[in-house]
Amino acid sequence: MIKAVIFDYGGTLAESNTSWNDVSEKAVECLSLDGIDVKAIDFQNAIMDTVEWRRTIHTEGREADSHEFFNHALGILGHSAGRDATDELEMYVYEAGETEWLADLDALLPSLSENYKIALLSNAWLEAPRQTLRDKGYGRWFDVMVCSYDIKISKPDPRIFQHTLNLLEVDASEAVMVGDSIKADIEGAINAGLEAIWVDDEGTGEWKGHTVKNISELPEMLKKI
Ligand SMILES: [Mg+2]
Repeated sequence: MIKAVIFDYGGTLAESNTSWNDVSEKAVECLSLDGIDVKAIDFQNAIMDTVEWRRTIHTEGREADSHEFFNHALGILGHSAGRDATDELEMYVYEAGETEWLADLDALLPSLSENYKIALLSNAWLEAPRQTLRDKGYGRWFDVMVCSYDIKISKPDPRIFQHTLNLLEVDASEAVMVGDSIKADIEGAINAGLEAIWVDDEGTGEWKGHTVKNISELPEMLKKI
């Protein structure tokens, strides 16, 4: 019997767009106060390279936090920054983000919480997914919120699924992972012994298991599992 529903964030609950241009403009001002002189365009390019680098550490099941993320970018430019500065840079990313919610969570979350524990499990190097959910007032519906940077392990590594199950105090067979990534969410969950529901918003049908087009269909789908 399913007792807990675990949500991915990006592409499942919400779509986030960050203006790295805005972040970079602010970042160079902040960094210059620490005696670090970089150009906004160079910083932005280093960030894009760091986004790629982060994909490579995910293949090893690893995750970076914001301090490591920004220092990887600054390292490309021959610099490094302290925790205070990288915390500040992380805040700029949060402020420069725009969020599009992919379903009516005001209706969905209270309805699911009547029958299930609810968790977030996001591959994130920063606090933004949790912060955005909290700021919107959705945090109270979540029993557990996990970001991969908490434990420096990313989906699809089974250890982060087990970590989430431990916090939820449910067994793998009692939980379902809901996400849009076949590799990170669906294969990851199944390897860790969970059920999985794939969010296939484009209707490609690439995976043949339990599939919804949008998470608003979850209450119906959960009855079948
Ligand atoms: Mg996703």
